[in-house]
Amino acid sequence: MSHNILDKVDRDDELTPAEMKALLDISDPAELQALYDCAYRVKARYVGKVAYFRGIIECSNICVKDCYYCGIRKSNTQVERFMMDEEEIVREAVWAFENEYGSAVIQSGERQDSAYIDLIERVIKRIKERTDGKLGITLSLGEQTEETYRRWREAGAHRYLLRIETTSPELYRRFHPADHSLEVRKNCLALLKKTGYQVGTGVMMGLPGQTSEDLVNDILFMKEIDVDMIGMGPYIPHRDTPMGKKIPPYTDGQRQAALILGLKMIAVTRITLKDVNIAAATALQALEHTGREMGLQCGANVIMPNVTETDYRPNYRLYDNKPCLDENSSMCRGCLTHRIQGIGETIGFNEWGDSRHYAKRMRS
Ligand code: SAH
Ligand code: SF4
Repeated sequence: MSHNILDKVDRDDELTPAEMKALLDISDPAELQALYDCAYRVKARYVGKVAYFRGIIECSNICVKDCYYCGIRKSNTQVERFMMDEEEIVREAVWAFENEYGSAVIQSGERQDSAYIDLIERVIKRIKERTDGKLGITLSLGEQTEETYRRWREAGAHRYLLRIETTSPELYRRFHPADHSLEVRKNCLALLKKTGYQVGTGVMMGLPGQTSEDLVNDILFMKEIDVDMIGMGPYIPHRDTPMGKKIPPYTDGQRQAALILGLKMIAVTRITLKDVNIAAATALQALEHTGREMGLQCGANVIMPNVTETDYRPNYRLYDNKPCLDENSSMCRGCLTHRIQGIGETIGFNEWGDSRHYAKRMRS
């Protein structure tokens, strides 16, 4: 049944929401493989068989928010909090640069105090100086004011990742405290675009109660707001969170199902949005050792290897079973390079790897 839909994709015809849902609902292994292969053809045609690396620096686990799914939410008292100093963050960014990553992502829990905003601004400027303006800088630092986004943009950051998490108002309400707002988050995405960033968003898949209609709506939202980049990943319970406490550890079958849903979502998003950058989330690797490479084979074209110092990694645990907690950055680089070449892709070393979608948006 699904091959009529996939034929449409190969003809470059647009799919209806019902057809997108039908693809997300596939469970037959042969049909799944046909979906992944089709998404890979779309990827090869629109963005090429190149994987870009972004070195991710998880610079602090201090967070003022309390998302019910996240291991570093402010009410989790089991976490030892840390904040790297300026020099440490800059050093890791320079490491990423010297190792030809082309681009780095600075991520942390959310803070809006002025000491933090100033520190990030100084860090961005110093990274730009130390790398001669050559290292691309992406931020993933949550909801901020327009003024803050502008200051960081002017300091030299050029991309920003802010996942919408879910576009279903009901699910959003269920998984966040009352003072966290879907509308505020949507507005932040608009501010980011207005202040000149390449904007990335994404969702979690496999949230309790989430349906394939919800996921279709998520993809349509990303299309509608015309994003340049997408980072989405499976939800994985964390045992010290309100949501995780209600969910017993995943069985092998549940892990497999979460992985497949993650891969299907990447595939259908690639098929629908075509020329954007899509990251294969680290959470895929928490479910299956080779999960991120599988993501590349289903349409993703970006991988975000961790370049944070090994000592800090165990404290930046958004979900359980986070991989590579005890592997240092050089080990991660070597291991990934090998695995990606193994699936027949090249790596876009020393390139910013802006999405083709962004380049097109700028031309028009
Ligand atoms: N504080 C920033 C960035 C750090 S959190 C922000 O929230 O935007 C980065 C991402 O981790 C979130 O967007 C969320 O989608 C993801 N995340 C948090 N808890 C998770 C979990 N239990 N399973 C999978 N992803 C999770
Ligand atoms: Fe904080 Fe981000 Fe985790 Fe929410 S998802 S609690 S904002 S780190």
